[in-house]
Amino acid sequence: MAIDVQQLADGVRTGNRAAISQAITLVESSRADHRAASRELLALLTPVVSSSEAGKAVRVGISGVPGVGKSTFIEALGIWLVGEGHKVGVLAVDPSSIRTGGSVLGDKTRMTELAATPNAYIRPSPSAGTLGGVARATTQAISILEAAGFDVVLIETVGVGQSEVTVAGMVDTFLFLTLARTGDQLQGIKKGILEIADVIAVNKADGDRAVEAKATAKDMAGALRLVYAGTHGWVPPVLTCSALEGTDIDTVWNRVIRHREFLGKKGIAEKRAEQQLDFTWALVRDELDQRLRNNEAVSAVRAEVREAVLAGEMPATTAADKILAAYDNKRDA
Ligand code: GDP
Repeated sequence: MAIDVQQLADGVRTGNRAAISQAITLVESSRADHRAASRELLALLTPVVSSSEAGKAVRVGISGVPGVGKSTFIEALGIWLVGEGHKVGVLAVDPSSIRTGGSVLGDKTRMTELAATPNAYIRPSPSAGTLGGVARATTQAISILEAAGFDVVLIETVGVGQSEVTVAGMVDTFLFLTLARTGDQLQGIKKGILEIADVIAVNKADGDRAVEAKATAKDMAGALRLVYAGTHGWVPPVLTCSALEGTDIDTVWNRVIRHREFLGKKGIAEKRAEQQLDFTWALVRDELDQRLRNNEAVSAVRAEVREAVLAGEMPATTAADKILAAYDNKRDA
């Protein structure tokens, strides 16, 4: 079926939900004709995004281990933001869906109230492909949501390393949710997370856990001050909140806004420009990886190389050279 890209772009611009869903499905597709149509669609939407307020959406990544309360938090935050007059889009990057086709994040029962809110739009993670492919789809989905007039875009991901780094490369502010755990306050946060977190919130600060959560936040804030001592940059604040009871969600959001103010309009523009450049190379690497996988000459030597390496008859360096030679010959042919 041929896609009327112009009509789809018009639909997105007027905020039509069916058009938004169709557009995101299109950018998630790995089919060559769909990818061409996606490029066309984005080209039609880009002037809208870059020239208007639509392009100024607040982009926030939200992460934390399974069970930390991400979906409860996003539901509470999203409903509050809609109440404040915002239009809120939620996207997900779910690394488990990439490996298994199953999903930690994407089941439909999550965020039911927010999903039913007219000024909110929730999209589960694309459930196939590589992390690079999902990143490409998600980056384009952000543009679609911005063109559709969403002024807040939240991107949820599970705390599994690479996906967080990927999401950090798409957002202005990265919010990390964690839990109170006396004794291992900083071990609880992996080193890589510390490097990308802009705001940290200790969730489930309610009932019996409230005191412990506050103590954890205080310790973590102290440790972070030491880590950042002597620098003049942004020191990630550590807050507490209860997603379940909806307390201090606004305080957490205010820190997100304060982080944006710290960056300033120019800082955000520069950050986004650099993200685009990084993303360009990520796209190239992803595409080269696909080409390598689909290359016939490489397929022809793959089994032979595999056996030789497994039998200990061929060093990895020789094997890699053989594969690259096969790839290069094929391309030069
Ligand atoms: P996710 O896996 O990070 O998305 O976590 P969920 O939002 O699904 O929450 C996991 C469990 O923790 C659920 O049973 C929630 O009801 C509960 N939960 C989430 N936030 C809070 C909170 O602030 N306080 C308490 N007591 N429970 C919470």
